Amino acid sequence: MAGVASVSLTTEEGQTDGRTDRSSGEGMPQSLNGSADGEGVDGAGSNGRDSSYQRYDIQQAARWIEQVLPFSLLLLVVFIRQHLQGFFVTIWIAAVMFKSNDILRKQTALKGERKVAVLIGISLAFALHVVGVYWWYQNDDLLYPLIMLPPKLIPPFWHAVFIIMVNDTLVRQAAMVLKCILLIYYKNSRGRNYRKQGQMLTLLEYLLLLYRALLPTPVWYRFFLNKEYGSLFSSLMTGLYLTFKLTSVVEKVQSFFSALKALSRKEVHYGAYATSEQVNAAGDLCAICQEKMHAPILLRCKHIFCEDCVSEWFERERTCPLCRALVKPADLRSFGDGSTSLFFQLF
Ligand SMILES: [Zn+2]
Ligand SMILES: [Zn+2]
Repeated sequence: MAGVASVSLTTEEGQTDGRTDRSSGEGMPQSLNGSADGEGVDGAGSNGRDSSYQRYDIQQAARWIEQVLPFSLLLLVVFIRQHLQGFFVTIWIAAVMFKSNDILRKQTALKGERKVAVLIGISLAFALHVVGVYWWYQNDDLLYPLIMLPPKLIPPFWHAVFIIMVNDTLVRQAAMVLKCILLIYYKNSRGRNYRKQGQMLTLLEYLLLLYRALLPTPVWYRFFLNKEYGSLFSSLMTGLYLTFKLTSVVEKVQSFFSALKALSRKEVHYGAYATSEQVNAAGDLCAICQEKMHAPILLRCKHIFCEDCVSEWFERERTCPLCRALVKPADLRSFGDGSTSLFFQLF
C-alpha cells in the first residue's frame, strides 16, 4: 500500500525515488530518508540543498495527507453513523431556527400589514416544535441545564456538545415565540411606538444572549469536575472555566442593562422634534417617504424627516439619509429588525 502511494506520487526526481523504494522493499518513511540523504550528498550549493529539502517536505506532507484523508473520511462516516440521530436532529433544529429567523424578520418588516392570525400561527408552530423536541428527548439530561442544574451523570464530550447545541437552538426558537407576541402587541405601531417595538425586541435579544451565555455552564461544570484525574486537576480546570465564563457573563449583563436604559429614554437620541416653523422652512415633505411629514424630527445636521421613516432608517444606518453626516451615536447593536443572533454559544 505504501509502495503504491509513493509510486503514484512521484514527480521529476521521483524516478530514483520509486526505485529506491522498490529495491529496499521496506516501509515508506525509511526509503524517503534514504533518498533524502543521498540527495544531500549529491547537492552542490547549500541553497540548492535547502530548496530541494523544502520540496521534499512538501512532497512528504502531500503523501501523508493522501494517506490520512481517506482514513479520516472513513472515521467521519463511522462517527456520523454512531451518532446518527443526534447528528440529524442537530442539523434539523438548526435549519428550522435559521428559517424561523428569516420569517420573523420578514414579519417585522411588514409593520402595519402584519396579520394577527399569521403571527399566532407562526408562534404556535414555533412553540410546538420546541415542545416536540423536548418531548422526544424527555429521558435525556436536556432539561436540567435549562434551570442551571448540572446533568446527573458526567456527559461524554460529544453528548455535552449535543446537549448544549440543542438547548441553545431551542431557547432561541422559544424566544422567537415571545418576539411574535411582541409583534402582535405592537402591530400598527407608528413613530414612538415603532421605536419602542425595536427597543423591546433588542432588550429581549440581549436577555436571551445573557441566558444563552449561562446555558452551557452547568454542562461544562459537570464535564470539567471529573474526579478521574485527581481532585486538584479537576478543581483547577473547573475554576479556570468558571473564571473565563464570569468575564463573558459580566459583559452580557452590561449590554442587557444598556438595552434596558435605552428603553426608559424618552427623547429621540439622534435629534429633537421639529417646530412647525422649522418644518415649513424645510418644505413639509419627507425625503424618505415623499409624503407630508408625520411627527417630524430634526436631526443634528438640520435635516427633517418623519419619525417613522428615520427610526426605521437608523435601525440599519448611523448617518443622515440626505447629507451622510454621522448622526446616531455608536451604541448597542440593535436587534429591532426582529433578528436573532445566529452564532452558537458552545462554551
Ligand atoms: Zn417620511
Ligand atoms: Zn443631514
